[in-house]
Amino acid sequence: MKKHILIVGGGYVGLYTALRLQRRLRRELHGGEVRITIIDPQSYMTYQPFLPEAAAGNLSPRHVVAPLRRILPKARILNGTVTKVSHSDRTVTFQPAEGEPRQLTYDVIVMAAGSISRTLPIPGLTDIGIGFKTVGEAIALRNRVLHQLDLAESTDDPDVRRRALTFVVVGAGFAGVEALAELEDMAKDSRRYYRNIGPSDLRWVLVEATNRVLPEVGPEMGKWTLEQLRERGIDVRLETRLESCVGGHVMLSDGTEFEAETLVWTAGVKASPVVRDSDLPLDERGRIKGTARLTVAGTPDAFAAGDAAGVPDVTNPGQFCAPNAQHAVRQAKVLADNIVRHLRGEELVEYRHKYVGSVAGLGLHQGVANVYGVKLRGFPAWFMHRTYHLSRVPTLNRKVRVVVDWTLTLFFKRETISLGEMEHPREGFRAAVATTHR
Ligand SMILES: Cc1cc2nc3c(=O)[nH]c(=O)nc-3n(C[C@H](O)[C@H](O)[C@H](O)COP(=O)(O)OP(=O)(O)OC[C@H]3O[C@@H](n4cnc5c(N)ncnc54)[C@H](O)[C@@H]3O)c2cc1C
Repeated sequence: MKKHILIVGGGYVGLYTALRLQRRLRRELHGGEVRITIIDPQSYMTYQPFLPEAAAGNLSPRHVVAPLRRILPKARILNGTVTKVSHSDRTVTFQPAEGEPRQLTYDVIVMAAGSISRTLPIPGLTDIGIGFKTVGEAIALRNRVLHQLDLAESTDDPDVRRRALTFVVVGAGFAGVEALAELEDMAKDSRRYYRNIGPSDLRWVLVEATNRVLPEVGPEMGKWTLEQLRERGIDVRLETRLESCVGGHVMLSDGTEFEAETLVWTAGVKASPVVRDSDLPLDERGRIKGTARLTVAGTPDAFAAGDAAGVPDVTNPGQFCAPNAQHAVRQAKVLADNIVRHLRGEELVEYRHKYVGSVAGLGLHQGVANVYGVKLRGFPAWFMHRTYHLSRVPTLNRKVRVVVDWTLTLFFKRETISLGEMEHPREGFRAAVATTHR
């Protein structure tokens, strides 16, 4: 009987699951007994750990994404969003970028829709805040920071200048610390091209509700990272919350108030909203209730992994796998193998991986690492961060492009141009039309 495997989301889990299914079910795909469809709003998978380097201008944005259609020629890629999953009748509602939604049926579903920023109802946040999860956000932020330097250089108003040069990041996990460290490093580097911006004019504030930064690298290296950031002049506020940022007027829970033009929100993630618009069981944190076999609890023909699912960590009973790429990639491999077993009527296996620690980049030639208990800091950690992620970024094509980008930066310094204009491509033309009608 023909089987249709539908994968919701073409990120880490979606891409790597399809890649393995493509290899393991080659004969069945060729003979038409199996079909694979991936649905994602984008036509590419984003290698999120490289977003901070893309924001800093060390990597081209096109090289931190992997084109789904090129990598997965045996799968059908549909661009759009799954807005509803009705597993009881094996149907999803697919909303393409244009046109009416339509129903798609399947035999086996893989929920791989990842996560979105977890926000709080803070006044002003939706007006000035920006997340750091997509390549669009990373590049917009890069353009924003460089544009603020241009603005500060060109104004005579000290208040406008101070506000332009104040950057706030909320949340000191992976995404927040790496984004802040890379952008601060880029801004510092770019400053040499501005006559009127001194080192102390740039103000970077990191706001964190708990008492530590970068928990992913453990307490000792987290403490070292904190000292490093403070040595660099970054104003790190621990056990502090953002209370309000209406119109860019930032108010913190420690009583501090100041003006800022840029505020990046990286204070945690929550499962993609599509999981709530499904009849699949959810856990108390709003994620799909997963099992160690990467199936959906108590639900036949449904699999889930990555940030969207609560997968029990069998190496740490009672705990769940953290939402990170380290788990997502490994889960995808086991998930794909379990789908093959499921199709062949074989017993499924459990996902088992003990978290090995992490590496993080903190700007050019700076990093921190704690992997298999080996703790590194500074240049060796940065080197490890780069080599590790290079080994992980999908396809040889992307690996070569990343190495070329890094090599160019080594010899010619990174690009420090703001292309914010690209976010409003029709403005110049509109202005030209307006002059014609004057
Ligand atoms: C800046 C940053 C740095 C990071 N650095 C590291 C690191 O160094 N190490 C590490 O281990 N982890 C890191 N992570 C975390 C890691 O990237 C995630 O844990 C990983 O991407 C999760 O994989 P996933 O497949 O579950 O989700 P994703 O990779 O996010 O993929 C989910 C996909 O689903 C799609 N989707 C969502 N909703 C729908 C829908 N309704 N219909 C169709 N498609 C949908 C999305 O467009 C997306 O493509 C980082 C994350 C960020 C943001």
